[in-house]
Formats: sequence, C-alpha cells, structure tokens
Amino acid sequence: MLEIERLAVSYGEVAALRDVSLTINKAEIVTLIGGNGAGKTTTLKTVSGLLAPTAGSIRFEGQPIVGLSPDRIVALGIALVPEGRHVFPQLSVENNLLVGSYLVRDPAVVRDTLDQVYAMFPQLKERRRQLGETLSGGEQQMLVLGRAIMSRPRLMLLDEPSLGLAPRVVEEVAKAILAFRRSGVTILLVEQNARVALALSERGYVIETGRVVLSDDSASLKRNPRVIESYLGGSSSAGATGRMMH
Ligand code: ATP
Repeated sequence: MLEIERLAVSYGEVAALRDVSLTINKAEIVTLIGGNGAGKTTTLKTVSGLLAPTAGSIRFEGQPIVGLSPDRIVALGIALVPEGRHVFPQLSVENNLLVGSYLVRDPAVVRDTLDQVYAMFPQLKERRRQLGETLSGGEQQMLVLGRAIMSRPRLMLLDEPSLGLAPRVVEEVAKAILAFRRSGVTILLVEQNARVALALSERGYVIETGRVVLSDDSASLKRNPRVIESYLGGSSSAGATGRMMH
C-alpha cells in the first residue's frame, strides 16, 4: 500500500532523514520506533506532503505522491494524526470532528462516519456539544483520532498517540487503533513507547539518526537484544502493557 524508498529530507543544512526505506501492506499495523530526533515525525510529515524530500520516492497504492499537496494526499486516503493532540479549543467536539471531513462531499457519508466515530468513542458522543478545550488529555486524543477517521482514510499515520497519557488511557487508544484496523484501515504507528508499539503491530522498523537500522516482525523485534537494550528498558519481559494487549 505504501512504499518508501531511500528517502532523504533536510531542514536547511540539517539532514533529518538520510536513508529511509519501508513498505506497508494493506491492513497491517506497522510501527516506526526510534529515540528523540531519530526522524520519525519527519517521515510522517514527508508522506503527508508537509515536507519535500531531497531524494527518494514514496508510492501510495502504486502512485508516486512526492510533490502532491497535503490536501491532495488526504483526498487520496492518507490521514496524519500529528503529535500533540491539536484540538480546536473553541469549537464543539462535534465541530472538531466535522473539520476532518472537509474533503468529503456527500453529507450522508459524513453523517455515517460521524456515527461510526461515536460508536467507537461513546464519550465523544456524550460530550459532542462541549468545547474542545474542556476535554481531558485522553479524550482529546480520542477526538484527534476520530477527526482523522472523518476523512475516511485508507492509511492512517499516527504520531506518538500514547505520549503523556495514563496507562488506562493508553489501553483505550490501543483498542481504538485495533478497531481502526478491523474496519479496514492500514496504520503506520510512530511511538517512543516501543512496548506499546510492538504489542500492537505486526512489523516494525527501527530508525536511528535518519536511517532504518533494523526491520523485522514485531515478535522478533521484541526479542532482539538491540531493541531490548535501547527501547525496552533493558528488560526482556513483555511488561504490563504487552500482556494487557494480548
Ligand atoms: P521526536 O520523537 O523527538 O519528535 P523524531 O524521531 O520524530 O523525534 P524528528 O522530529 O523527525 O524526530 O527530527 C529529526 C531530526 O530533524 C532531528 O535532528 C531534529 O532536531 C531535526 N528537526 C526536526 N524538525 C526540525 C526543524 N523544524 N528545523 C530544524 N531541524 C529540525
């Protein structure tokens, strides 16, 4: 579904991505693991058309997408959920969701998708008339995930959806991600929380200083000494989150 080949991206003189290649098959959850500044966010922004690569190619369902505008890329079926839970504080929860459907022409489809989002996140339905700013951190994360679904994506790019959330809320986010996949959405999940990411995904890539240094199925990555040492806190146990999700 997505093929990234030898991608390089710079911020001025600063090379953020040097050599990133990865593929995602339809209906997979694939994770991109890496420390601070490794290039995870840069990868997602480049796929979304927010940054232009200096080299390499990106194909979505066979079509080259480098050079297309972010709008066009959303219209093709790729939705980015950026890090940081950007809700519109002065819009109602429902209007925050409707912002996500601005490219969907058919009002019946918008209505249907809104119903799906409310079925997935009943708290959002209860709070649909409240202002975005009144939601808790966890509810805001649900809101931005719901808003992405409103664009009816086939591929979702999730940037650190568990960041700063309490374990109970992380579990809810994880359930939502699995529900998206069940509904046919393919997912590229960026996480610093490798434990959560590897529990959810089928395959993963490890990125360090702008390069993919390791790729494997998630079960093997969980056992990989390098991954254990650098991203799982040096312990080989699955941990609470890992157990929770299986
Ligand atoms: P984090 O988890 O901290 O967000 P990341 O893996 O997502 O890390 P990126 O945000 O993609 O990393 O950053 C990759 C590299 O690019 C880092 O060296 C970072 O300092 C640099 N970088 C990111 N954004 C900019 C920017 N706007 N201007 C200059 N350099 C940047």
